[in-house]
Amino acid sequence: MKIFIDPGHGGANTGAIANGLKESEINLDVALKLGDILKNNGYEIKYSRITDINLTLFERAQMANNWHANYFVSIHCNSAASRQANGSETFVYKFETPAAIYGESIQTQLILQNGLRNRGLREADYTVLTATKMPAALVELAFISNPQEARLLSSTEFQMRCARGIANGIINYINEL
Ligand SMILES: [Zn+2]
Repeated sequence: MKIFIDPGHGGANTGAIANGLKESEINLDVALKLGDILKNNGYEIKYSRITDINLTLFERAQMANNWHANYFVSIHCNSAASRQANGSETFVYKFETPAAIYGESIQTQLILQNGLRNRGLREADYTVLTATKMPAALVELAFISNPQEARLLSSTEFQMRCARGIANGIINYINEL
């Protein structure tokens, strides 16, 4: 079983910058922890990037397609103009698809582990969700623009809880097929 992990942004494309954090760095930290957990559970892992490089969204999807990944997950942090915005959410291309059940499993387990507000599963036509040929989900761990959540995102312990939640969601989904 092959899981493709995409740490969002990278290089000049830092993603959101707030509260002294760069989204691209947090995404990579959590993605690497997620990969370690999945490897320890016997899954094959490939990352879109393991260093601070910039790839297009289409390149990320194509890498997963060329590798014939069974599942795709992209890791991001949310950002909003309001410092109060908070919680975790997961995006899939369309509801009532295998990807939506996969995404719901990730979202449920993520919230169980990280304890944040559940913003639920949402639809979006992001390229990494539409150009991938396998079930794909994009996770927004927490709001980097929210001072409390930024503090959490910078801690190894919270990153580990997020990684464990996402891993549990993927593993539970596959085991229930
Ligand atoms: Zn992002």
